[in-house]
Amino acid sequence: SSTTYTHELGAALTNGHASPAVEGSTERIQIVDEEKKFTPELGAQIEKWGLRDVGFDYNIVSVFGSQSTGKSTLLNRLFGTTFDVMDETKRQQTTKGIWMCRGKGMNVMVMDVEGTDGRERGEDQDFERKSALFSLASSEILIVNLWEHQVGLYQGANMGLLKTVFEVNLGLFGKKSTDGTSGRTLLLFVIRDHIGQTPLENLQATLTADMNRIWDSLSKPSELKDAQLSQYFDLAFTALPHKILAAEKFESEVFKLRTRFVDKSSPDYLFKPVYHKRIPADGVSFYMEGIWEQVQTNKDLDLPTQQELLAQFRCDEISAVALSEFNEQAKSQKRPVEAGRVVEGLGAMMRNWRSDALSRYDRDASRYHKGVYRRKRADLVATMDATLSPLFLGQLKNLHKSCLVTFKKEMMDGLRGEGYNFADVVSKARERCENTFIAGAKEATIEDTDWNWEEELHLLEDEINVVADQCRKDETKKMLNQIERNIKRQISEPVELHLNRPSKGMWDEILLAFRDVLGKAEAAYSSKAQSFNCTDEENKIALATLRRRAWLALRAKIDEQTADQAFLSKLRNHFEERFRYDDNGVPRVWKPEDDIDGAFKSAKDKTLELVPLYSRISPEDSSLQFELPSEPSDSLSGAEEFDFASTLVVFSETKALDLTNKFRKDADAYYVEAKRSTVSSVAQ
Ligand code: GDP
Ligand code: MG
Repeated sequence: SSTTYTHELGAALTNGHASPAVEGSTERIQIVDEEKKFTPELGAQIEKWGLRDVGFDYNIVSVFGSQSTGKSTLLNRLFGTTFDVMDETKRQQTTKGIWMCRGKGMNVMVMDVEGTDGRERGEDQDFERKSALFSLASSEILIVNLWEHQVGLYQGANMGLLKTVFEVNLGLFGKKSTDGTSGRTLLLFVIRDHIGQTPLENLQATLTADMNRIWDSLSKPSELKDAQLSQYFDLAFTALPHKILAAEKFESEVFKLRTRFVDKSSPDYLFKPVYHKRIPADGVSFYMEGIWEQVQTNKDLDLPTQQELLAQFRCDEISAVALSEFNEQAKSQKRPVEAGRVVEGLGAMMRNWRSDALSRYDRDASRYHKGVYRRKRADLVATMDATLSPLFLGQLKNLHKSCLVTFKKEMMDGLRGEGYNFADVVSKARERCENTFIAGAKEATIEDTDWNWEEELHLLEDEINVVADQCRKDETKKMLNQIERNIKRQISEPVELHLNRPSKGMWDEILLAFRDVLGKAEAAYSSKAQSFNCTDEENKIALATLRRRAWLALRAKIDEQTADQAFLSKLRNHFEERFRYDDNGVPRVWKPEDDIDGAFKSAKDKTLELVPLYSRISPEDSSLQFELPSEPSDSLSGAEEFDFASTLVVFSETKALDLTNKFRKDADAYYVEAKRSTVSSVAQ
């Protein structure tokens, strides 16, 4: 039997590992049971094996491979262990779990993994993955056991499982491995039932290529994205002949392989120091329990089944193909959008690219594991949307800009000429602008995304308001100027008329006329301003401005009519009418006996009474007096400080005196002329 054989073999190979182990030292221990619980007994067992105090002078080896590929058989032969071997005749079931045994006559802890043979697939795989990861993470050498005919088969040789295990191993223990503390691991491929037709070198090349491919396809943690397989693992290969068909050859090859585990002086010695985890033997149980703990609690392992692994592999590939075509298409519109153009029909294009890519993906990927297919599809959608989103946002920005330009232009066109209604012009332009934006934005929006254009619309609305406000202010200004011109025109004649007809009620007449003109102006403003949607505050300011400007227009007209020469000529006329014409309006011909002096004095005095009348705007009826606040309120024209009281004064006292004097000289001239005319008439 095989047991006998290994006993003999152990005895034959007395070596450096020989220990003071007692009989029964190859007792097995189940370190992880069916419930996935780690044994509390490992420390004690290591002590029983006599290994507790060997320091670093021990090795750990484990095995990986499909069920019933002769793993336990091989371990027992190589290390003299006593793992259960499936009995073909009884088809007995071995107990599930991870087992450990001390190598006979050698300081080696050997681990064997037992599972069920695939009848309860789903549950199995969790255990398979965890035990495989545990073996990989805790051993110096992992024997990868496989039939020759499994070489090159992704599924058959558990390569998918190996990929997951690598992936999680890198995530969990990858960093530790690169800092030099836990060293490298040897993957020893043992090819079983090697017929010999295909040389080992060829099998080796295939397996090496497979391993590299698996490694490249791992999703690595970002800080380890450039990690190489060779940084973590050495690969070694050996082949064993058929155990039954070439029994003798099998035994001798196994013997040769055993030598490589045992003979430290052999150039092929497998337990190289670099693989050692550098845990003192008395810490091994604690260390292993810790690894199991990490393996157990790792979520990544809960995921994929073989089917899922394959699906992930394929769905990723299919997705990548779909995506590359999509990216080409999306790229074509990137430049125009970035250049600020509103791309006609961008939304339709984007929807097409997206749905084309998805139907390409669906066609090829939907055959695979549904969960993976859906997950990868969601990833694909997210990736595409991340590419399209900048196009969408760019399109919105460009749309916003172009709509605003159109709005400004429409406002300008609408406010040209006469007879428009400002509010109509604004609301029509605004409506068209917003509708154009919304239509464009909706076109560019892809359903099932969280894209929104409302925010951009709000920004646009804000800018429209700014433009409309500015236009309204300009319009108000324009209107005020227009009204001011009308006031000037309307006030001109009555002022001229009444100032040329001096009388006590002169200012009453002028102020009445002013009140009338102002009233009409205010009414004109109010009726137009309604269409502007001005605020109360704006109306208040505009009306105050209007009143002041009207007043200043009146004052300007008064100033014009009372300028020195104009005023003096009014006085002269007034004087002449009284001095040179009699009460019947007939020109006087002075005779020597006439009272020239008396007439002159009377006419002069009556005329000089006009100076105080003109010098101040002061109506007989005080209710006609116009009032304005004195604070500076003309924000539209930005006029400086304004003092209303001073505007009531037409002439200052000095000015009045000056004008009086000037008039006296004129009057004196008339007097002299009158006197001369009598002298000349006497002389004739
Ligand atoms: P394990 O499940 O991988 O541990 O496989 P076992 O060691 O329990 O062996 C399973 C069956 O395969 C047993 O009946 C063994 O006798 C048989 N077996 C072991 N080694 C070989 C081998 O090298 N070739 C062949 N063809 N059968 C083997
Ligand atoms: Mg077994």
